[in-house]
Amino acid sequence: MKIKKVEFIKSAVKPEDYPPPDKPEVAIVGRSNVGKSSLINSLLNKKIAKVSATPGKTRLINFFKINDNFYFVDLPGYGYASVSKAERKKWQKMMDLYFQTRENLKLVILLVDSRHKPTNLDFIMKEYLEALEIPYIVVGTKLDKLNQSEKAKAKKIIKEVLELDDTIPVILTSAKEKINLDQVLFYVNQAISN
Ligand code: GDP
Repeated sequence: MKIKKVEFIKSAVKPEDYPPPDKPEVAIVGRSNVGKSSLINSLLNKKIAKVSATPGKTRLINFFKINDNFYFVDLPGYGYASVSKAERKKWQKMMDLYFQTRENLKLVILLVDSRHKPTNLDFIMKEYLEALEIPYIVVGTKLDKLNQSEKAKAKKIIKEVLELDDTIPVILTSAKEKINLDQVLFYVNQAISN
């Protein structure tokens, strides 16, 4: 799939502010600093997501329209160390509402850092998606930071720690060096075409 057109549609917190569910949708999520903004910018070939935005600011769900054909949704990251309990609760509520109501959601891209074992929060997110029967793929970020032996092991570690079924695609990527982005777009295209 080629990305020909990228439009920012809006930011929203509540379902009544989401764009109408008139096109298939793909969402991307991961812990803070995982490289989400960088990957979005590389995938969409456009500096559209803020890299390393200040944590603790009001975080919103950002909707983009791609090729007039589907929505791409940037979900707020989790696991900020400096966030208060009240803010975490707000995040949880916003995410619950999104995942439980968004009827046109076809795929979630769950990001993990290729350099480290997935965290407990990553595992919880994966369990949550499975419980809601939302299709997902796992994408490892920052592949360029790994040496050869780490590269060879990274996929296996992600699969083991997240207890992934063999049917779940795991793709290791680098936003910086644009590695394996076409593979991610392949699954996006497959999901929105069904
Ligand atoms: P976010 O908080 O998940 O949106 O993460 P960012 O995209 O802001 O990235 C966090 C940090 O990781 C920044 O310093 C990025 O430059 C760096 N980063 C992100 N992706 C890559 C990558 O593919 N390779 C390398 N080497 N660094 C990356």
